[in-house]
Amino acid sequence: MAHPRIGIFGGTFNPVHEGHLKVAGACRKALGLDRIRFIPAGEPPLKTHNLAPAAHRLEMVRIAIHGIPEFEVDDREVRRDGPSYTLDTVNSLKAEQPDTRWTLILGLDAVLGLGAWHRPDALLRALPLAVLFRPGARFGQLKDLPQMAGIDFSPLFDCCGRDPEAPLHLTSGDGIHLILVPVTPCPESGTAIRKALAEGRPPLGLPPAVHDYITRNGLYT
Ligand code: ATP
Repeated sequence: MAHPRIGIFGGTFNPVHEGHLKVAGACRKALGLDRIRFIPAGEPPLKTHNLAPAAHRLEMVRIAIHGIPEFEVDDREVRRDGPSYTLDTVNSLKAEQPDTRWTLILGLDAVLGLGAWHRPDALLRALPLAVLFRPGARFGQLKDLPQMAGIDFSPLFDCCGRDPEAPLHLTSGDGIHLILVPVTPCPESGTAIRKALAEGRPPLGLPPAVHDYITRNGLYT
């Protein structure tokens, strides 16, 4: 039997929005993954401002992906005590499902902040990393990260020799496998949605059922 191919999509999901759903779906198709597993952070070490309780963020993801068979949700980071380190999550998934081919999925903004993460060098060598385009940054900025020092970025700048809409695979000699995924730009962000809700304006890209949940539970007021 073929080994399942699953994308790990972590984040605060504070709250989950249409941007998450669109880029996760586009990445699944572009990389030929079977499923995308959304894993909300229980205690995100870096994003603590105006953070809704983890149980609510988990429930909003459940609501948002309901009825989409290629999407699933995993509550391990919410159940685990202490800071939610992605490397711990990846290691526990690999131990649990050794036959699955895992790919970590992160937005470009998150990858550019990798230096502040827990053991980024180990994380980069633990599994392939798909980097989703996000407005506000350029893929070319990745080459300035110290963690990416061993990667040959020249194919990224060779615009004649490749299809700019296809995923671009880049590797280092010592085990890093980056996949740059040029998804259609999505402007949604959790920060903008929380701001709109607090100011009583209509939020951009909030799924109606999630908006309903937020209103019923008095979140982000
Ligand atoms: P916030 O503004 O609260 O930081 P966010 O949506 O940027 O919200 P997360 O919920 O932590 O942050 O995002 C989860 C993952 O999805 C991250 O890897 C992030 O980079 C990515 N992501 C979020 N929104 C987009 C988007 N519009 N386009 C591409 N990637 C995105």
